[in-house]
Amino acid sequence: MKNPDLLWEYQSLEQRKVQLHRQLKTLTEIPELRKLKEQIEQSQELIKMLNQEKENAKKSIKSQESELLALKEKFNNAESELYGGNVQASREIEAAEKNISLIKQKIQEEEDLEFIELERLEQIEFKLRPLLTDLQEKKNSFRKINQDYTNKKEKIIKETEEIKSRQKTLDLKIDQNDWEIYRKLCEKYPDKSGIGILQNGVCSGCHMTVSFEQLKKAKNLTGIVCDNCGRPLVVK
Ligand SMILES: [Zn+2]
Repeated sequence: MKNPDLLWEYQSLEQRKVQLHRQLKTLTEIPELRKLKEQIEQSQELIKMLNQEKENAKKSIKSQESELLALKEKFNNAESELYGGNVQASREIEAAEKNISLIKQKIQEEEDLEFIELERLEQIEFKLRPLLTDLQEKKNSFRKINQDYTNKKEKIIKETEEIKSRQKTLDLKIDQNDWEIYRKLCEKYPDKSGIGILQNGVCSGCHMTVSFEQLKKAKNLTGIVCDNCGRPLVVK
């Protein structure tokens, strides 16, 4: 090999790239965000349902109020007719009184219904308040975690881009023959690392101690090969 140093750098960058890719896929924020998103959607669904109920209750109250208003007007008319002196005959008076008491009863019934509806409205609002607070808190933490996630993601992408650009430069510098040897060696090893580094007499590829003969060669910085795994070694 003419220049194992360049291939070593290329290989290290490739490994770092794989590591960064794995990091990107396993950022802890991803499951957190997914969980929060699910909770937010559930909460929004529930709030939507309660708001719909609230609207229905309000509509009922409104129609009950106009019904009450009409009944009260009817009641007033009936009373003024009775006491206005127009009704004279006792049978007519009796009928008018009966009519008035019927209207009164209807008013009472309508007021009871309105009371029930008002209570229902209050209950819905009682349920809604903590849900809205909780939703807001969840949205805030989603925003915060998403910001952290975006920052980390951007950092990883930036580093990956820098690696790619450095690899392009290296690719032009690396000898074609070196490339061929390197590719064949990569295929040979399960970890796809065709080149190793010699550190404290140990090969980084197989983690075995390199023989004395090879170490002697290392001193001259010429063609060192691990005698255990056969990887060309770069001396660091
Ligand atoms: Zn080795």
